[in-house]
Amino acid sequence: MERCTYLGKSIYADKVKLDFCEEQLIRNSGRERKLFCYDCGKPVIYKRGEIRDAHFAHLDHSDECDYEEYSKYCAKRSPSWKIVKEIINYHFSNIYPHAIIERDERLFKGHYTDFYIKLESGLEIAIEIDDKTMTSKNLSNFYDKYNELQLNVDWIVLDSVKTFNYDYQSYYIKRARLNESINHSVIVVDKSDYTFCMYKLDTKKYIYSDSNICKFTENVFSYIFDFEKLRISEKGLYIDEFESEYQKWLGKRLYEFKQRDIELNKSKQSYWDEDHYIEIINRIMSGEKSLIDDVVIRLSQDENKLEIVIFEQLYNGFKDTDLNNYIDIFETIINKIKETQL
Ligand SMILES: [Zn+2]
Repeated sequence: MERCTYLGKSIYADKVKLDFCEEQLIRNSGRERKLFCYDCGKPVIYKRGEIRDAHFAHLDHSDECDYEEYSKYCAKRSPSWKIVKEIINYHFSNIYPHAIIERDERLFKGHYTDFYIKLESGLEIAIEIDDKTMTSKNLSNFYDKYNELQLNVDWIVLDSVKTFNYDYQSYYIKRARLNESINHSVIVVDKSDYTFCMYKLDTKKYIYSDSNICKFTENVFSYIFDFEKLRISEKGLYIDEFESEYQKWLGKRLYEFKQRDIELNKSKQSYWDEDHYIEIINRIMSGEKSLIDDVVIRLSQDENKLEIVIFEQLYNGFKDTDLNNYIDIFETIINKIKETQL
């Protein structure tokens, strides 16, 4: 067990081991039965070997205790999970020296929250460190529990830091956080080199003026950062410069979208303006059959029904008409259609 109670306060085994005198004191206190299990309150002792790191253990092995069970489970977890927990603890203890930072906090039954932090300002947050094994059932259970406590919770996900273009390409926990967290973002730590990365989902829909949806080659922004820049805010974990970098990325997207919209409008106008109609009809009439196929394909892709109707009527009208009158017919049909549309 990482944590125990001594003189009414929580102490942590990894802190005790740093100072020899402190370690001596705690070892003696254990023998004197002054150390108690953080969860069940029974006596514990301090242990540290060269293989198994510093920890507390129940004096009586036959004690049944959820925390002891949980600690056994943690001992089997990946080394990277433990290292990330250490990094986070080290970092927040450094930058928030007056904050209350508790590990393995039992906030609700059957679970030990990796971090419960209360800043000097009174701001509270729970932090969970998980990986791809987190299921949707467990995650929604956590949401419910933290909701009941009215406590904000954020996740740090242990995975590999790589670029993924769309949220649906990521594991459930990452996708869920991208879609459900207040900031639509998730922090991922690489389990091999401990690179920290923040991902954010752009939930905005970009609709062209012709009502089609603009499809980008990505909908997730990723930003690698130094863990020392990690901070706590009312909305959760954040990094100072992240928002401005994200806004730059958004700006580029918006520009790209607007340019594409302008191009689309231009190409449509240039193809379907009245002059072009006349040119098409001219060429059809002079026997350019391949052009008819091209026009038919374009019409099948065009959503502007008015143009299709005009063209169909125009084309049909020409079949039995004197070729010299086609411009008059064209205008007549255009006007007729426009009248019926009004
Ligand atoms: Zn216990």
